[in-house]
Amino acid sequence: MRCKHPLGLFIAMDQEWKNRLSAAQDLKIPTAQILAPPESERDVSLIKKMFSDADIDITVVFCGFEGESYADIPTVKKSVGLVPTDKRKERLAQAKKIADFAQELGVSQTALHMGFIPEPHESDYQAVVSVAKELAEHCQSLGQDLLLETGQEKARILLQFIEDVNMPNLAINFDPANMIMYGSGDPIKALNHLGKYVKGVHCKDAKWAERPGEEWGEEVPLGQGDVKFMEFFTSLLNARYCGPLTIEREIVGEQQIRDISRGVEYLVTLRQRVWKE
Ligand code: MG
Repeated sequence: MRCKHPLGLFIAMDQEWKNRLSAAQDLKIPTAQILAPPESERDVSLIKKMFSDADIDITVVFCGFEGESYADIPTVKKSVGLVPTDKRKERLAQAKKIADFAQELGVSQTALHMGFIPEPHESDYQAVVSVAKELAEHCQSLGQDLLLETGQEKARILLQFIEDVNMPNLAINFDPANMIMYGSGDPIKALNHLGKYVKGVHCKDAKWAERPGEEWGEEVPLGQGDVKFMEFFTSLLNARYCGPLTIEREIVGEQQIRDISRGVEYLVTLRQRVWKE
């Protein structure tokens, strides 16, 4: 099997999105995942035209919700995704609207951070399974996959969760750096465990915290952290994943563009090596 592994770029649709899009175009990156802009800024025809003029295919639309904060791990637990109970209903409605927006853009994958999925024995677990199922069913009605971003829980919990939701279009966007930043386990082992569900990846790097799981690891430019990317690519090939390698660098401004540019060189070199083996 010959994999293409086209490069991709994660583009948050904030005020800098056009700079990121033009950087992707300059770097000849052919695909992008986008973080959905707020509802009032979802100008489908403009976004479609700008990406098409840049010759970049949008592969995934990520959900983001008002009130989410990644300030520290306890704040993520309280504020991110569909897990916080006080926000669940409203966010489920928003996520469905984002899937509709993806549909209008002609994109067949919607993704999100569910939040910290509880352990299966915990009281809220079944309710979180139900909400994921309802969203996956909505995506299925649009002909879409629903991708869960990795990182906030251990691989075994995510695997159990996917099996309990039991929807054929439910899959994973695997982010190896998140596993390190959240201290949720060795990313290569996790990938080997979850491989058959992987339908998207983030190429992002990070360093382990001194006390993993209690404090954040540090996100760093590609190749400077603890993700073993050669092993990562080999595991992706073993899992028969041939989709985009989407670079994610979670800073803003000119340094972000510089790091992305170096990231492209790094990935192209590695991809070459993996293909030869
Ligand atoms: Mg990510």
